[in-house]
Amino acid sequence: MGRLLLVSLPATGAAIYRCKHCDTHLAYATDIISRMFRCKHGKAYLFAKMVNVTVGEKEERAMTTGWHTVCDIFCVACGCNLGWKYLAAVDKTQRYKEGKFILDRREVLATTSTVAVATTNSSGGGGGGGGDEDDDDHQSEEDSD
Ligand SMILES: [Zn+2]
Repeated sequence: MGRLLLVSLPATGAAIYRCKHCDTHLAYATDIISRMFRCKHGKAYLFAKMVNVTVGEKEERAMTTGWHTVCDIFCVACGCNLGWKYLAAVDKTQRYKEGKFILDRREVLATTSTVAVATTNSSGGGGGGGGDEDDDDHQSEEDSD
């Protein structure tokens, strides 16, 4: 009975981030706080919570936003390094990150869960899809100059 107890995130309709090496569930896309982070490999996301990770040793690191106490996080199933967790920030303006997780975008895959997702058109915002066959008369031109 030495099996790892893996948490399986229930399908909520939100995309689920999985370890790209072993498919272990890690976090919901809805728990992303920010996509503006970077790690040494490139893009990284800040998550409010994650499952199925173990933490490494606590250490002090100088980030672009100042000194932080962090620990690396690892997939419990395959042990790969997924990113890190912020334990403490010196700068008060960075304290919102404490207890949050940075996930290296290259180490994870996002999958939409199996719940039927209503196709919400989130990319809307521009008008101008005229269905006329003869549109010699442009009434709503978008002038880019
Ligand atoms: Zn893994």
